[in-house]
Amino acid sequence: MLPQEIIRRKREGEVLTDAEIAFFVNGIADESISEGQVAALAMAVFFNGMTMDERAALTRNMRDSGTVLDWKALGLEGPVVDKHSTGGVGDKVSLMLGPIVGACGAFVPMISGRGLGHTGGTLDKFDSIPGYRTAPTLDEFAKVTREVGCAIIGQTADLAPADKRFYGIRDVTATVESIPLITASILSKKLAAGLDALVMDVKFGSGAFMNEYDRARELAESITEVATRNGVPTTALLTDMEQVLGDTVGNALEMHEAVDFLTGKHQEQRVYDVTMALAAEMLSLTGVATDVADGLQKASDALTSGKAAEVFGKMVSALGGPVDFIENTSDHLEVAPMIKPISAAKTGRVVSMDARKVGLALVALKGGRTRADQKIDFAVGFTDFIKVGQAVSAETPLCIAHIRDQAQLEEATALLREAIVIGDGEVARTGSAAVVR
Ligand code: URA
Repeated sequence: MLPQEIIRRKREGEVLTDAEIAFFVNGIADESISEGQVAALAMAVFFNGMTMDERAALTRNMRDSGTVLDWKALGLEGPVVDKHSTGGVGDKVSLMLGPIVGACGAFVPMISGRGLGHTGGTLDKFDSIPGYRTAPTLDEFAKVTREVGCAIIGQTADLAPADKRFYGIRDVTATVESIPLITASILSKKLAAGLDALVMDVKFGSGAFMNEYDRARELAESITEVATRNGVPTTALLTDMEQVLGDTVGNALEMHEAVDFLTGKHQEQRVYDVTMALAAEMLSLTGVATDVADGLQKASDALTSGKAAEVFGKMVSALGGPVDFIENTSDHLEVAPMIKPISAAKTGRVVSMDARKVGLALVALKGGRTRADQKIDFAVGFTDFIKVGQAVSAETPLCIAHIRDQAQLEEATALLREAIVIGDGEVARTGSAAVVR
């Protein structure tokens, strides 16, 4: 088989066979196919798309390019489930979701990533806990998941290495924004993690990877279809990222909000709705709950009984964090030296918010990164974040800034006043969501 022949067929809009896709993915993984040829195929797919059969074959072959985890062999006697989010601003849902679902009897070995650009990453939030190991051995990962119900860590084994090379090439050749390629990229890693079921949180809106609702829905439909065809029952929720999710943005601050949520001290409504909806789907898909309504009830019981908070605390200590993290959270998280409100400086109503710009404001404070190798400041960020639709006077705080110095305060003030639009026009519609099953 010749790579150029496969590229030519896709360029002409033809449908590739399983064998051609397997050959190409092997060539990506062992580097026998050149970067130019990989880029050319990506561009041909970008313009001509792929059928669901092609997407399923691409995903399967990329999944099989490295280790595929086998949780039964690692001692997990029960359903194994995970959630994947396409990324957002203030999205701390995984921190509560894993423990809630783990407390209900499913196993959640959650493999998370670090933040890049405007979107935050779950691993960075865990890195804010002193001692917490986000890179344990595979055996330790399995042991904590087995004994506690949930473990949230970074990637341990070599999962879907073909995606690593493919994504790197797509990133520099303007071919990331292709739904078939995104589908295979996300799912190859998730399916290599050996799950029995998967729930996707596909975000849309100003802070999302895919801004437009219709495109986000197309991605959700593609992912659920391709994952299910590859033997992993999957559902997707479409959730709104038109504004910051919850009250906080910033790693240690979001960790604090998550603990307050689990202990019942404070549960912001949108965070509650998204977390519980995802938990209900996960419990229903795995058969731990009879249906979504039963899943919702079980998730709610796990939260109100304190069981989910207990699972979180056990996970933190089992992975090297403080044993009293839940009880004495503030003692363990770094605090920024300056805490100051940022006022609206205008009277009116918050008519819209550019959540992406809020994420970039965190990056400007060094609470996020623009390159994968950058270190970040866990303490900085924003609390008490204003909501779309809220009325403000000039003195009303848009949020409370947690910063290092006056220069950072001025920079954050300018960026947030640009991101949060105050006026007397129509308020942007937020909060809509749908389920793709
Ligand atoms: N995230 C991924 O893992 N892959 C993509 O292609 C896009 C987003």
